[in-house]
Amino acid sequence: MTDQSAPDREEEFAIFNHLESEVRSYARSFPVVFARARGAQLFARDGTAYLDFLMGCSSLNYGHNPPELKAALADYIAGDGITHGLDLYNEAKESFLREFHETILRPRQLDYVVQFPGPTGANAVEAALKLARKITGRPNIIAFTNGFHGVSLGALSCTGNRYHRAAAGQLLGGVTRLPYDGYLGSSVDTADYLDRLLSDPSSGVDAPAAVIVETVQGEGGLNVGGTEWLRKVAAIARKHGALLIVDDIQAGVGRTDAFFSFEAAGLRPDIVTMAKSISGYGLPMALVLIDRQLDKWEPGEHNGTFRGNCHAFVTARAAVEHFWRTDSLAASVRGKGNLLKSRLEQIAQKYDPERVSVKGRGMMRGIDLKSGEVAGQVISNAFQMGLIVETAGPKDEVVKCLPPLVIGEAQLSRGLDILEDAIDSVMGSAVNTAA
Ligand SMILES: *Cc1c(COP(=O)(O)O)cnc(C)c1O
Repeated sequence: MTDQSAPDREEEFAIFNHLESEVRSYARSFPVVFARARGAQLFARDGTAYLDFLMGCSSLNYGHNPPELKAALADYIAGDGITHGLDLYNEAKESFLREFHETILRPRQLDYVVQFPGPTGANAVEAALKLARKITGRPNIIAFTNGFHGVSLGALSCTGNRYHRAAAGQLLGGVTRLPYDGYLGSSVDTADYLDRLLSDPSSGVDAPAAVIVETVQGEGGLNVGGTEWLRKVAAIARKHGALLIVDDIQAGVGRTDAFFSFEAAGLRPDIVTMAKSISGYGLPMALVLIDRQLDKWEPGEHNGTFRGNCHAFVTARAAVEHFWRTDSLAASVRGKGNLLKSRLEQIAQKYDPERVSVKGRGMMRGIDLKSGEVAGQVISNAFQMGLIVETAGPKDEVVKCLPPLVIGEAQLSRGLDILEDAIDSVMGSAVNTAA
């Protein structure tokens, strides 16, 4: 559309309203047509700039169109590099595997083989579940309350969210749900409960093939698995002959500072799923990292036409090379994660802790407003003021900040200023009464 006059709203979204399925979701929170993006900013068609604290739900950890990755991709395309390669050997994949091995796996002494499933998180989870069941011969999987692992049937069985589960229209089986860390309050160690259930032959819980866990629950509302809890869950899985699958699709790739979110707890998962930011450029790509001893796949057992997205291999290689050969990105995430934490705590301190609290780890943190309605109003106000930020949690009650890891401190502060104003404008009356 070239018309510069402010178009009538209905008119502006006409084709989406007419032709795109009702299943669309994020677009409803941010009703504007976007045209360009760079770094931490999205630009609407009319040129309005928005700070982006959604970042493709953590698919764009290095920002929109990071220049180093864009250059690598543009060169590759200009040179007629292969775009689609099934799972044929090709140079783009070779370079990615070399870089990933040298820079990520080897220094961490992680002896994984790499599976390229179909290029989505859900597909990586499907592959991980299948493999765990195949290796152990056990059908049951342990997953946790508020876990989110994708919406294809296998992954959805592990996902907690009722709304998403209901859409399956069929029973979702093969999974036993257990309480995540803190689910029953700080006085109950839910890992002990897991151990008890698996140790008791009459608990009614079948020996599991795997325990699948997020170290920080992204969609579930920024619940943090404590270091001791995660270590205990890992030990319990091992003790009972179950594999440990860490779903690092949202919390990985530096979001909590280290490349893998489980490094802080010193875990060595048997299987790791990755997607979202692994390509670094928003291109579809997913990985399943499998302990070398556990690579029991037969050729083509888990298949998919788009396992060879060479453009994603190119940007993923460039991202690892540019951002992970040194510790500087992780260090800056630690610093900005602390900044994010202290600013959110300052905001929360203005209000009754029963109504506002801070959650999360690293640069995936947010503010729990205890009400989906309030949180929805906050993100809508924030959007009017130029900040894109979404909600998470069982009732969409947590405003979740996922700024790009490479954001400058000035932009980070500006986004948080907007968020603070948005919260104050919704909670306004409480400001005066709380003090
Ligand atoms: C987003 C997400 C998935 C699903 O990934 P898709 O690419 O949407 O299929 C799985 N697990 C976690 C932890 C996620 O955040």
